[in-house]
Amino acid sequence: MVKETYKGVSRKNIPWYPTVNYERCIGCGKCVDYCKLGVYKLDENREKSRPIAVNPFNCVVFCKGCQDICPSGAISHPSRKETVDVIRRLRKDQK
Ligand code: SF4
Ligand code: SF4
Repeated sequence: MVKETYKGVSRKNIPWYPTVNYERCIGCGKCVDYCKLGVYKLDENREKSRPIAVNPFNCVVFCKGCQDICPSGAISHPSRKETVDVIRRLRKDQK
């Protein structure tokens, strides 16, 4: 289930989502099948298919599942520490 908030902060304010390096990506589509939250859609209108993060904020904060199963190391996520700091700051600002 997609969450609208994370620790009381609007999910859309938290910059945690996957980024695909298309130079490394081999277009296998594993990440698209693996993520059950509809973050990706496979763009097949190219010579080589490309996963596009069409719903980046559906990504579970701190999940790296697709990154771990990508056979070509094409997926990255932001720094966990920096994201924790952003969330802390946002929570503080809300008080
Ligand atoms: S799993 Fe990796 S190589 Fe396969 S489509 Fe996704 S990003 Fe590309
Ligand atoms: S990190 Fe997890 S939730 Fe986010 S896109 Fe990948 S598999 Fe889906």
